[in-house]
Amino acid sequence: MGFAVSDELLGTFAPILVYWLYSGIYVLLGSGSLDNYRLHSKKDEDEKNLASKGAVIKGVILQQVIQAVVAILLFTVTGSDAEQTGPRPSLIVLARQFITAMLVLDTWQYFMHRFMHINKFLYKHIHSQHHRLVVPYAFGALYNHPLEGLLLDTVGGALSFLLSGMSPRVSIFFFSFATIKTVDDHCGLWLPGNPFHLFFRNNTAYHDVHHQLYGTKYNYSQPFFVMWDKILGTHMPYSLEKRADGGFETRPLKEGKGE
Ligand SMILES: [Zn+2]
Ligand SMILES: [Zn+2]
Repeated sequence: MGFAVSDELLGTFAPILVYWLYSGIYVLLGSGSLDNYRLHSKKDEDEKNLASKGAVIKGVILQQVIQAVVAILLFTVTGSDAEQTGPRPSLIVLARQFITAMLVLDTWQYFMHRFMHINKFLYKHIHSQHHRLVVPYAFGALYNHPLEGLLLDTVGGALSFLLSGMSPRVSIFFFSFATIKTVDDHCGLWLPGNPFHLFFRNNTAYHDVHHQLYGTKYNYSQPFFVMWDKILGTHMPYSLEKRADGGFETRPLKEGKGE
């Protein structure tokens, strides 16, 4: 009773709202004096990136509109409007559903992402768009070709939703969380006390390596864990060093043994 907006609709639109709110916070933070925490200088951000801020905003919005339309169509075709009346899932059930969804999303995204690098056609026409940002920033996180958004995020999201068995209501929180994590991984700032940096080895620095020329064939794992890179030998160890002009930078650690 009383809910004009269904959980499915919220699950579609909450992550979009969360995306712009969370990356908006980083825009405000970034306009302050946080140069000592940047992974790249402001100059590099302006000079090395191959897409303008305006193009990035347009690209992200286009992708979000297409994904929302597809998600609503999917719900209309497959979903029932039945109200959820069952008992609330226990914390253990919720944790299991969250972890399952994280593992499913990670697995799907690792293999699709890696495939888009290996296949020259797909890289050239689809995934290279995301790599136009050599210096990632928060609202560039979902700057992708619309097809990549559909394949990695929409299909991956649908799989993690279905296989985890979570309810549409729980999925609102899961997809919002995954969105925040992805934005954070692209924020370009290594701020002290950032909980994502403390709890996840797959984090802003880890994904920054993937955006660098030396790292494009490594660190495919996204958005949560590093396990697939570790298991399949695409893990690039790196160190976080102080930059001469302030802030930090990721540097590859010599391997030589090819893991
Ligand atoms: Zn990539
Ligand atoms: Zn990225």
